[in-house]
Amino acid sequence: MSKNILVTGGAGYIGSNMARLLKRQGHNVVIYDNLGRGNADAAMDIPLIEGDISDRNTLAPALEKHNFDAVMHFAAFAYVGESVTAPDIYYRNNVCGTLNLIDTMREFNVNRLVFSSTCATYGEPKSLPITEATEQNPINPYGQSKLMVEQILKDYAQAYDFRSIALRYFNAAGSAEDGSLGERHDPETHLLPLILFEALRIQAGGDPKDTNLKVFGSDFDTRDGTCIRDYIHVNDLCSAHTAALERMIAVPDKGAEQFNLGVNKGYTVLEVIDACRKITGVDIQYNLVDRREGDPPELVADASQAMQKLKWTPSYPDIEQSLQHAWDWFSKHPPE
Ligand code: UDP
Repeated sequence: MSKNILVTGGAGYIGSNMARLLKRQGHNVVIYDNLGRGNADAAMDIPLIEGDISDRNTLAPALEKHNFDAVMHFAAFAYVGESVTAPDIYYRNNVCGTLNLIDTMREFNVNRLVFSSTCATYGEPKSLPITEATEQNPINPYGQSKLMVEQILKDYAQAYDFRSIALRYFNAAGSAEDGSLGERHDPETHLLPLILFEALRIQAGGDPKDTNLKVFGSDFDTRDGTCIRDYIHVNDLCSAHTAALERMIAVPDKGAEQFNLGVNKGYTVLEVIDACRKITGVDIQYNLVDRREGDPPELVADASQAMQKLKWTPSYPDIEQSLQHAWDWFSKHPPE
C-alpha cells in the first residue's frame, strides 16, 4: 500500500536513489535536504523541501503538512577522515541534528525511522565477518556519531515506542542501473570515484605516471597490506530500505533493530584498483602513501540477519557490476 515517506538527505548519493525507488514503488515521497552536500537536480521530479535537519522551523511545517508514515534518514556527514579533523560538525549534524529530527517527528506522531548507520560503528572488529553482535567500538568520530544515534534510537524505542531500523552500511558503491543517478560528492574522497576519475584523466590524454590516486597505507595486516572493504551496490542498499520499511509496518513491536548491509566479500584497495583497470581498460597507476587516520584494516559484513529478517537478497554480489555502473555514469558525467 502506498505510504507517505520523508527522505532526509534525498538529494545526496544514496538518498536520491532511495527517493526514486520509493516513488517507482508507488509511495508519496518528499525530500528534505539542505543542499549543503547534495545536488538539487538529483531530486529529479520529487518534491524537495530545502532545509536543515537541525532547523525545527522548516522541519515542523513539513511534518505537519504531509502526514508521513515513516522517515528514511540519510542526511549526515559521512567522511571518516574529515570526522577526525572536524568532529564538531559530525556530532552537531549527525547526533544533534538527528535528535532534533526524531523529536520533531514524535511531536507530529511520526514514529517510524529507517536510519543510515555504518560499519564504522564497529571500529577494528576482533573477528570477521562482522555480525550485528560484534562489539561496537568506533575509532573515528563519524562511527561514534552514528553509534550514539543507534543508542538514542534504542532508548526511544523503550521509552516512547519509537520504531526504528538502523542499517549498518558497509561501503556503498555503483550507480543506478539505468544511468540516471550517480555518485557526486564535493569534495570527493571515496576510493571508487577517485580511481575512476584517474581513469578518465588518462583517457583524456593524461600521463599515467602523473597519477592523483593515493593508496592510504600499505602496511596493514591484510593479504596485500592495503585495507579490505565490503562494497555493496547502491541499488541493493535501497532495496534493503524498502524491506526495512515493510518490516517496521508488519512487525511494529520490535523497537529498535539493527542490520548489517554488505555482501560478505572483501576487496583490498589494490584489488579494487585492479578490477577498475579491467573494467575501464585503462592503465591506472597509484602512489602508496601513509595510512589515513581512522581507517580500520578490514571491514567485511555478515549480512545474514538482513537476508533472513528483511527477506533481502543483494542483486549485485560482485564488485564488478558496481564498478561497471559507476564507470558508465562517470564516463557520461565527468567531474567538473
Ligand atoms: N582509500 C584510499 N585512497 C583514497 C580514498 C580511500 O586508499 O583516495 C582507501 C581508504 O583508506 C579505505 C578504502 O579506500 O581503506 C575505502 O575508503 P572510502 O573513503 O571510499 O570509504 P570508507 O571506508 O572510508 O567509508
